[in-house]
Amino acid sequence: MDHDDSGAFQGPLDGNSAAGLLQEVFVFEATSAILTCAGCGAAGPIGATRLYGGAMGAVLRCAHCDTALLRVTRTEIGIWLDMQGARSLLMRDAPAA
Ligand SMILES: [Zn+2]
Repeated sequence: MDHDDSGAFQGPLDGNSAAGLLQEVFVFEATSAILTCAGCGAAGPIGATRLYGGAMGAVLRCAHCDTALLRVTRTEIGIWLDMQGARSLLMRDAPAA
């Protein structure tokens, strides 16, 4: 379990809560993009992942097997993105009118 400095439980938020940070990395609507988990093969929108975050950045975990799908953090030199736990990322085209 994750706890903050006061000892309070820092439970996961859903991946939609990382929208602001993800918007700095991706030019598309990131929370609707489909991530496939390298751990269990589950596929779903980033917004349906579990967000564990703090001052260091965000870790999005698979809601099915808890694999760390995507880690993103801002540093002095830029934004680091680690996607080792993701097999693929699908950015769907906008539906035709
Ligand atoms: Zn998984």
